[in-house]
Amino acid sequence: MIYPIVKYGQAVLETPAEPVVAFDGALEKLVSDMFETMYAARGVGLAAPQIGIPKRICVIDTSSGEDPKARLVLVNPVIVAAEGKQVNEEGCLSLPDFRADTPRPARATVRAQDVQGREFTLTGEGLLARALCHETDHLNGILFIQHLSMLKRDSIKRKVRKMAKAGQW
Ligand SMILES: [Zn+2]
Repeated sequence: MIYPIVKYGQAVLETPAEPVVAFDGALEKLVSDMFETMYAARGVGLAAPQIGIPKRICVIDTSSGEDPKARLVLVNPVIVAAEGKQVNEEGCLSLPDFRADTPRPARATVRAQDVQGREFTLTGEGLLARALCHETDHLNGILFIQHLSMLKRDSIKRKVRKMAKAGQW
């Protein structure tokens, strides 16, 4: 099932999500729907709050569906280490058409559980490090625009307000 994606402005995107405690068939179905929704939207990552579900779950595929081994499910993820710095263009399915150079760690390590509840640790560099940080941020109610300068962030917020007023958001 493909879910509609919640856009910036909805409270669920700026509220910390709840931990997952039940590793059951419902979670498996939700994760599979999240992949379907992410691929349909041509994203490389999706967090559950972006489909209106306030749970600590995200999916990532930096290969955009090309490499099955790149499919990642992170349940209850926590960034446990980060080093270096990269600045690259970043966007978000909840802020369509807005992209901005965003600072992130060059390397990030996440500790999470898989869909069965087994704990694992994963280190990513480059785009994967960016995705790990971006998606984990979502579960803490943080959007990428919070890593931009106030000037840049306010300019995006202003444009969104204008579009919302015009019924285009
Ligand atoms: Zn996002």
